[in-house]
Amino acid sequence: MKTIKNTNFKGKKVLVRCDFNVPVKEGRITDDTRIRESLPTIEKLLSDGAAVILMSHLGRPSGTGFEAEFSLAPVAARLGELLGKPVRFTNDVFTEVTVSLSRDLQAGEVLLLENLRFIKGETKGDEAFASYLASLGNVYVNDAFGTAHRAHASTAIIAKFFPDDKYFGFLMAHEISNLEKLLHSAEHPYTAVIGGSKVSSKIDVLKNLSDKVDALLVGGGMAFTFVKAMGGKVGNSLVEEDKLDLAKEILADFGKKGVKLLLPKDSLCANRFDNEAERKVFPTMEIPDGWMGMDIGPEAVAEFEAVLNTSRSVLWNGPLGVFEMPNFSEGTLQIGRCLGKVTENGGYTAVGGGDSVAAVNRLGLAKGLSYVSTGGGAMLEYLEGKTLPGVAAIED
Ligand code: AMP
Repeated sequence: MKTIKNTNFKGKKVLVRCDFNVPVKEGRITDDTRIRESLPTIEKLLSDGAAVILMSHLGRPSGTGFEAEFSLAPVAARLGELLGKPVRFTNDVFTEVTVSLSRDLQAGEVLLLENLRFIKGETKGDEAFASYLASLGNVYVNDAFGTAHRAHASTAIIAKFFPDDKYFGFLMAHEISNLEKLLHSAEHPYTAVIGGSKVSSKIDVLKNLSDKVDALLVGGGMAFTFVKAMGGKVGNSLVEEDKLDLAKEILADFGKKGVKLLLPKDSLCANRFDNEAERKVFPTMEIPDGWMGMDIGPEAVAEFEAVLNTSRSVLWNGPLGVFEMPNFSEGTLQIGRCLGKVTENGGYTAVGGGDSVAAVNRLGLAKGLSYVSTGGGAMLEYLEGKTLPGVAAIED
């Protein structure tokens, strides 16, 4: 893998694509995790003696020019605090001012360009825009894993202008090496825990993992499509009627390959989709009409934990219940705690996807697991076996 680790960038002007897509409320950053995660790469380049030009997007502006709510100005200020040095900032990404600020940037200095998505060419993967960005520096580093599944101007197209001077930043390298491990060299027994609302969004991941894992534990709303496909009664639980045949195929495929596929034995159900609803535990195969499965039940938690406790590697993606509602979050939190213990006992544990990562953060467990991915969609596509444009652009 071509990373920045073993190269010295003294005297270079390095363009770094970061993922500074942080939550901003009324001009204030509410969670600066993504900025902190970019620091190792930026600090390495600065300590080598490079001039560093940072590029990112924030949110989804319309692509027709400046929109104050999507400005990266708060990021420039926060990054300056974290680096302990001023970060220059351009209020535009496509003017003579940007070009001259970039040209005049000295070794050890940092410049952040304004939100690239103010220009339509960014998301369109426009070659002229990529070429303009490329003209600002003489080395390209991609450290934006969260957008690596997009073939945008700054995440993929730009790389062709740096055939011999393109690298992965530390964050990207960390994500890729962990994902490669999950796909090709995880120690056995290897268990995947897959939850979330719909089986349709995880079909390709399930198919790809069927050759790799020893056990698959399914929770969340998607479990009920499998249960119904097996002839169970799911009451009013979430079901994708048009995916029943596909669920049968997946069950048969796992069976043929000898992979253990466990559905929750019991479910904590509600009589309406509400945190304050009445709650009752039913066997998942026998949920009465008028009730819907909202979380995995106590027997399911115990059975899942027993499998996890004997696993050497665990991949977890997706909550096991309606985790946003406190009364239905316990199953997800228990599995998070169990992964913490697996890690303590020397196992390898990987977590990805917004809700499972939020659960891990809520438990204060992020540092107690082996790998917490920063990219939801990008991680899923990698696990599906797809080649991400942002990764391929550096490896080509
Ligand atoms: P995903 O984005 O596919 O990982 O799905 C996450 C969503 O699945 C969260 O918003 C959860 O509330 C939802 N979810 C999990 N379990 C259930 C369930 N049993 N019924 C309905 N939605 C669920």
